[in-house]
This record gives sequence, C-alpha cells and structure tokens, in this order.
Amino acid sequence: MIQTVVLATRNKHKLGEILDLIPGLNLIMKTLEDFPGAPDVIEDGETLEANAVKKAKSAALFCGLWALADDTGLYVDALGGAPGVYSARYAGSGCSYTDNNRKLLGELAGLGPEKRTARFCCVMALSSPGGSVIAVEGRLEGVIASAASGTGGFGYDPLFIVAGLGKTLADITAEEKNALSHRADAIRKITPWLTRLSDS
Ligand code: IMP
Repeated sequence: MIQTVVLATRNKHKLGEILDLIPGLNLIMKTLEDFPGAPDVIEDGETLEANAVKKAKSAALFCGLWALADDTGLYVDALGGAPGVYSARYAGSGCSYTDNNRKLLGELAGLGPEKRTARFCCVMALSSPGGSVIAVEGRLEGVIASAASGTGGFGYDPLFIVAGLGKTLADITAEEKNALSHRADAIRKITPWLTRLSDS
C-alpha cells in the first residue's frame, strides 16, 4: 500500500523547500490545503521540538494519516539565543519578515562580525496516524550580516551569511540553499523513517 504523508505547514516557502528536499520515495505527498477544516495550531511551545511535535500530531490525528512538520528558529549568540523559538514574531505579533530583520539589525548594531555568530535550527517531526512522533534536528552555522543582501529565500535569509561561504542564504539559488540548509539537514536525518514508510 502506498502511504500518504501530509506536510503540516501553511507557509508556502517552507512547503516548496520541503517538497524539493524529500527524496523520490514511493509516498503520496499532501498538504493541509487538501484537508479543509484542518485546525490551525497555536505555536506556544517553549522549544522548537514542542511546536514541531504539536503541528505534526495535530495534522496526523485530524487527517488520519502520517504527517510531517517543522519548526525553525534563528539563534543569535550575542542575544543569548534570541529570537530562537520566537523567530516568527520577533518584532511583535503580525510583523513582517522585513520588521524582524530590521529589529535584528538594530539589536546587533555596532557589533563586529566575530560577535554576530548565529545558527538556524530546524526540528522536523513525523507523526504516525495514531500520534506517535519522532523528531530530528538540523542545523546551519553562520554570521548575521550588517545589512540585508540578496533576493532569494525568505525570512531571515537576507541577513544570514553561511559559514565558509561568505554569501547570505538570499544570495544563493534555491538549489544551493537546499544543498546546505538547516531544513535539508533535518530532512536528511528523517529520511530513514520516510524510506521505511515508503517500503511498508
Ligand atoms: P516557523 O515557526 O518554523 O514557521 O518559523 C519561524 C520563523 O523563522 C519564520 O517566520 C521565518 O521568519 C524564520 N524562518 C524559518 N525558516 C527559515 C529559513 O529557512 N530561512 C530564513 N528564515 C526562516
């Protein structure tokens, strides 16, 4: 029997990246748009893992299918790990990506590159139809730029200079981002479970 996996995100940027990253497995991929009435999950967990697990489980139980969800945060060392789990609403509720980036640049004003180290963490959770969940974490190290650069990607990408690359995630192509990103690292780590599912 071919298994169906629901991608439990409504963020179109993330959806696109996850669909590009999932290897060619014998699985039917659906999204929450295929399930009218699926509840919106309030991301009120204190960790990325708590939020990713909540999103995956909610979708799996609602749809009665396997579900995959991610929660991602940007951890800036000079800010004690902020914005971290609060990355989406860093500049306040209803804020835009631009608002968040402006706030981040303001918080780091005057700090040199050696004090601007940061990492993206992405927790990917896979829930069975009955709500049993496994979670893995992917990471990407970098430095926060002193000004936005590039037009690709989304969110904090224009400010995130990839360690060893000297370019932001928005300066590189979608294919290049997918070869090295935190989300790619998490998908790599969860692929053995997806492969097992595609063989079942
Ligand atoms: P979420 O809670 O996982 O949807 O993500 C939190 C926030 O992190 C998003 O609103 C984006 O601002 C940011 N974010 C998530 N993934 C990425 C990424 O791949 N690049 C840049 N920013 C991201």
